Amino acid sequence: MRRGTIFGWILFAFGMFAAGLFIAASMNRLPSVLIDEPDLGIEACPRDEAAENALLRKSAERLENLHPSVRQGAEDLIRLSKSCYDIDIRITQGYRTKKEQDELFSQGRSKSGEIVTNARGGESMHNYGLAFDFVLLKPDGGITYDLNHDGNGSGKNDWNEIGMLGKALGFDWGGDWTRFKDVPHFEMTFGHSLNDLKKGKRPAESLIADRTDEIEELLGK
Ligand SMILES: [Zn+2]
Repeated sequence: MRRGTIFGWILFAFGMFAAGLFIAASMNRLPSVLIDEPDLGIEACPRDEAAENALLRKSAERLENLHPSVRQGAEDLIRLSKSCYDIDIRITQGYRTKKEQDELFSQGRSKSGEIVTNARGGESMHNYGLAFDFVLLKPDGGITYDLNHDGNGSGKNDWNEIGMLGKALGFDWGGDWTRFKDVPHFEMTFGHSLNDLKKGKRPAESLIADRTDEIEELLGK
């Protein structure tokens, strides 16, 4: 064969391989080695549904009016953090109206208290049902915002463990942000920017979170 022909065939083979990868990616079926999946390092996870349900009840009210996938993700976060990490969490904030957001914004500014947000009404993913905040629970039932808390004695910061778990469930985690680090915050935007949302665009209710294979296994699906 002429050199040009061989080169042509090699190019064709690469082209087919790339096309295959593209199709696999669009179907969400990439071989796992090609996906940047965080390894949660959970070997066995004996599920304690009674304990999980008891925790879910504490957060039920806060989970109302969220996007179905955000709500499902929050519930799974509560369940898996309990059974897999022995960390109890409670949802402190979910959907917030724009008025509630404005009130929160005034805290530490026109009102007393510490500044807890840089977002005015309509400027937060909470106002669109796409975000929630959580807090760590202590065995005595109290809460802690100690950012070094290691209640389960794993040698790892509990907030980081929950952060990793939430990301594997398909959330963006505020603990990764550099401009305004928001460790208790998770959001799921389905590619929607605040500008999109302000213009009235909304992610379809039917959209499902992009979870890792490890999570699907832990949830037994
Ligand atoms: Zn938040």
